[in-house]
Amino acid sequence: MKNHVLFCGISLTIISIAMTLGFAATVSAKPKVSKKPFGKTADGKAVEIYTLTNSRGAEARIITYGGAVVSLKVPDKRGKLGDVVLGYDSVADYEKHTSYFGALIGRYGNRIAKGKFSINGKEYSLAVNNGENHLHGGLKGFDKVVWTARSSVNAAGANLELSYLSRDGEEQYPGNLSVKVIYTLTEKNELKIVYSATTDKATVVNLTHHSYFNLAGAGNGDILNHQLTLYADRFTPTDGGSIPTGELRGVKGTPFDFTKATAIGDRIDQTDEQLKFGSGYDHNFVLRKRGNGLALAAKVYEATSGRVMDVFTTEPGLQFYTGNFLDAAIKGKNGQDYPRRSAFCLEAQHFPDSPNKPKFPSTVLRPGQRYTQTTIYRFSVR
Ligand code: BGC
Repeated sequence: MKNHVLFCGISLTIISIAMTLGFAATVSAKPKVSKKPFGKTADGKAVEIYTLTNSRGAEARIITYGGAVVSLKVPDKRGKLGDVVLGYDSVADYEKHTSYFGALIGRYGNRIAKGKFSINGKEYSLAVNNGENHLHGGLKGFDKVVWTARSSVNAAGANLELSYLSRDGEEQYPGNLSVKVIYTLTEKNELKIVYSATTDKATVVNLTHHSYFNLAGAGNGDILNHQLTLYADRFTPTDGGSIPTGELRGVKGTPFDFTKATAIGDRIDQTDEQLKFGSGYDHNFVLRKRGNGLALAAKVYEATSGRVMDVFTTEPGLQFYTGNFLDAAIKGKNGQDYPRRSAFCLEAQHFPDSPNKPKFPSTVLRPGQRYTQTTIYRFSVR
């Protein structure tokens, strides 16, 4: 009996030490989703935060405001969970800032030159919110609206389905666009994002996700030592306003060659016109993949944590952005500051300014068609 009590005592101590160290993986047996209030928007709309957990203990917290991933906890090589994305603590911060932390981006992710495009001979004029160009859906893009949420759990993992109806004329885009995004935190430690949309008038659509990653942990220094591989032999060089010139330029012999694992910081400050335009990397890469299937687009490795992130997508392009415009004056979660280049984004997408570049894959969606895209961020360790 005495031995039994002693044994239970030791086991409980081991479990509580494991939990304190963050080895939650041993505790949660099944994927699950829970929900809590996160606050209210300035105009009084309630915002919820959903916590998705898989049976290995990984956890994604997502708010209905902008569908933003607020935190994403995945294990490091010691099995300790750590948060690998930047985020804020309050709705007010998400409303105020324009860094798009973790958000869903639409109706058109990335830039449209001068905010203008034509479909069927009719010209549309969108807000100009990035120099003289339109960026990430305009003044109130999909990152700044409250989505309707429904959660579920199945064999694949914990799911959060978000829907939003973008009305005809919203941000001056044509057509009622009905959008659905399903986030799944899978049993394989993946954050999987499945998008779909339909319209009742011809319009342009380019949806993406804007998490800022730091695999050493959000707020834990810069990302310059992260090793990046991009499965892309070409990129779309831009003008000074980050609008593609239309050229698909080979990466070979340039600082844009990430076809072999290379530290992000190795060439970031080289004298190069394109790096100057982006203030670092802020460019769309033309993925090597052919067709619309899901394929590996990027791999990132961070040595101190041992974390690896693989990005798979159905999209033809990937915007690689090195947080060049982050500013330590902005306070993130838990009062942390996020200085310049303390995170990177890999935004799966169609190419920027496609509505004005007939040679780029089309972003036009017509009535009767369905827009779809799938992107997976898979986490493992080395
Ligand atoms: C853009 C950057 C921009 C960032 C935040 C990225 O997708 O390419 O130029 O600063 O989003 O707005």
